[in-house]
Amino acid sequence: MKRLGTFLSIVFVCLSAAFAQNAVPPAAQKAMNAIDAEKIRATVKYLSDDALQGRGTGQKGGDMAADWIAAQFKSYGLAPAGDQGTYFQKVNFFGVTTDPKQTRFAFVPKSGPEMALKFAEDYVANDQTHAQKSEIDAPIVFVGYGINAPEYNWDDYKGVDVKGKVLLMLVNEPPSDDPNFFKGRALTYYGRWTYKYEEAARRGAVGVVLIHKTEMASYGWEVVRNSWGGETSFLQEDKDPKLKSAGWIQLEVARKLAQASGMDLDKMLHDATSRSFKPVELPVRVKETIVSAVRNFTSRNVLAQVKGSDPKAAQQAILYTAHYDHLGIHADEPGDNIYNGAADNATGCGIVLELARVVAAAAEKPKRTMIFAAVTAEEQGLLGSKYLGQHPPIPAQNISLDLNYDDIQPLGEPQQLVVSGAERTSEYPLVEKIAKEFAMSIQPDDHPEAGHYYRSDHFSLARVGVPAFSVNEGALFKGHDLAWGEEKERDYVAHRYHQPSDQYQPDMDFTADAKLAKFGLVLGWQTANQADLVGWQPGDEFEKARKAGQ
Ligand SMILES: [Zn+2]
Repeated sequence: MKRLGTFLSIVFVCLSAAFAQNAVPPAAQKAMNAIDAEKIRATVKYLSDDALQGRGTGQKGGDMAADWIAAQFKSYGLAPAGDQGTYFQKVNFFGVTTDPKQTRFAFVPKSGPEMALKFAEDYVANDQTHAQKSEIDAPIVFVGYGINAPEYNWDDYKGVDVKGKVLLMLVNEPPSDDPNFFKGRALTYYGRWTYKYEEAARRGAVGVVLIHKTEMASYGWEVVRNSWGGETSFLQEDKDPKLKSAGWIQLEVARKLAQASGMDLDKMLHDATSRSFKPVELPVRVKETIVSAVRNFTSRNVLAQVKGSDPKAAQQAILYTAHYDHLGIHADEPGDNIYNGAADNATGCGIVLELARVVAAAAEKPKRTMIFAAVTAEEQGLLGSKYLGQHPPIPAQNISLDLNYDDIQPLGEPQQLVVSGAERTSEYPLVEKIAKEFAMSIQPDDHPEAGHYYRSDHFSLARVGVPAFSVNEGALFKGHDLAWGEEKERDYVAHRYHQPSDQYQPDMDFTADAKLAKFGLVLGWQTANQADLVGWQPGDEFEKARKAGQ
């Protein structure tokens, strides 16, 4: 009783201090204890079943998943948070599937034989322009990393006019251990392929050919091929400039191209690491006819909410996100061609649904509203969340925090937590405190060079200023050593990630998913009740967007 008295008196004096001292309200504790690993299993089993056809964006399976998730929200008693009082936010897309039979791609050197490339084996490409057929006959210019980053005093373009040209470039960014130079080993947005295409299109290039090198992309050629081999989707309302051909080539193809140009690829790669690098026009033209099947379609984000208990604070929210889409069916591939996406990302959906269920059932609600979003088209380049960020159910500046769940391997009880990007927000001390309560050490990103921060849906929210990060596990699990977890991770990336074999297995242990759900519940609840909204650390790249919205 003494504690309660102290609590009440502090509430009236200083709201934020009171919540810092009194961790979890009993209702939150109860909700947390109600989180059930087996319910998460049931969701994963259902969403990754062959009947859901890999939940492709704009495919029947994707729509089935959206309907099912909405039905779950409804059955848990959550209110809709989508368009016109529904659980759905409609997103208009166009989908492009490159026709491998009619599409032609060749390098034509000034002298020597033409090099015709084989689709999927040597290269992949998409036409971003909504055209059914585009022709390219253009010079090819090597632009190194294709980056213009004034804050790092780096410009690969050096003012060279690339209008109407095809640009050959590297993924990733110039290697460095200096934390003040492209954040050292960590990848910034400049290293992502999405940035490379955007920047080239802004400069009027007609095409981009990225050189695929596994250790630079941090994923193998199969991942590129599988991701580009099916349909690729674009937001209809996106007015940014687009490329006629956005593609990749295998490293060995780039080597042959360099040879045909009388150049040495290794030297080119090395030259690109220098600040004084200048674009090099190769004595080779690209001749390309790119034929696409184009269709317009609608897909949906699924949104539900639990209104906050404090009438004023309820106008602000904590957002939980997880993408429900995966890669669908690749009808032209032999054998099992259903990309079930059990880990990626039925697991995240299972967590968000379980959070929604226990919050909706809680006797007392958090002060701020909690919004739960299962978003579409993540695999197409974070498009569903991009749309959500640009059309949030409440203004973005009123969203205190987005916690995202993507691909939480069901491997048992995690003893490490990965929350990359959390340290960029004012939320970090609370994250550290709660991690400790859950007996998890915060693991710095093992592979900062992979740029995970820019590869999942929280990034779409960060872009509009919302402090956002993903919650995931490290490699250390109870009853195992670190090597075991690392081997599991390697095995997953090599044999299941973005492959039809990412399937539900009965021996999956969802303790991991439940624990991270509990962590997110406690963190979200306390954040929902604290006096101030979460912000970015001063000088962070997303601080400007946050301030612009306020
Ligand atoms: Zn994925």
